[in-house]
Amino acid sequence: MAFDFGGKRVVVAGASRGIGRAIALSFARAGAGVSICARGAEDLARAHSEIAANGHPTHSSVCDLADRDAIFHYVEEAASALGGIDVLVNNASAFGAKDDEEGWAGGVSVDLMATVRAGHAARAFLERGDHPCIINISSVASLRCGAPRPAYAAMKAAVNNYTVSLAGVLAPRGIRVNAIAPGSVEFPGGRWERARLNGSPLYQAIRASIPFGRMGEPEEIADAALFLASPYARWITGQVIAVDGGENLQGL
Ligand code: NAP
Repeated sequence: MAFDFGGKRVVVAGASRGIGRAIALSFARAGAGVSICARGAEDLARAHSEIAANGHPTHSSVCDLADRDAIFHYVEEAASALGGIDVLVNNASAFGAKDDEEGWAGGVSVDLMATVRAGHAARAFLERGDHPCIINISSVASLRCGAPRPAYAAMKAAVNNYTVSLAGVLAPRGIRVNAIAPGSVEFPGGRWERARLNGSPLYQAIRASIPFGRMGEPEEIADAALFLASPYARWITGQVIAVDGGENLQGL
């Protein structure tokens, strides 16, 4: 499916690699102006160059999305650089691996509150945007038992619930809000590639549980994001869409 986002302005929060990078690149290839942020300057600069190579307005800024003030500063800078905001994608995660104070604090500040705060920061711009929408990146872990990562699963479940509530609040303003719950997605340098190379039994178990028989690719999540931001999804809001090769169905 070919999408045309010519003239659209897209902000992807947390997008120097992996799924966020693929989403940002896909929007840029479809003609959009794109802004990205991340904490690490090196990966960010590389992703900026790849996005800019598509010839549309490109902006990037180092930003720690765990920091409330930094989020507001980043979103305003991005809107100024792109001339507004039509699409906000909240992609960052702290991946709350441990069931301890640190694991939960990261999940609250990055997975949940950065999503809330970036939406607050972007709202005035989105209200003036062209068929505006917010897309929150959740996880298939939010839809089932999150035993190995309880903080991560709980925060992503909170993101799902917030997505639905916010969709109700923003519908009268013409802003759609949806979430994508990716299944396990493997890419060079990513968590699942590391797990595979380390011979992780969890990797083998997860992969074996996916009905489609393989891990996902970042571009498959990006395709879903472009669909949700496109006119084809103009009547869709308040939805959490699993993009997971059926991983979410395990145990049914
Ligand atoms: P990733 O490889 O760790 O990339 C995350 C991106 O966000 C990086 O650019 C990272 O850059 C940035 N980021 C992280 N924390 C940040 C912070 N505090 N402030 C600013 N930027 C930050 O992650 P991924 O695997 O692509 O996953 C992306 C999203 O998909 C996450 O929400 C994740 O929960 C979800 N997801 C992933 C999978 C999977 O299998 N990969 C499965 C289900 C859901 P810096 O580190 O430099 O800041």
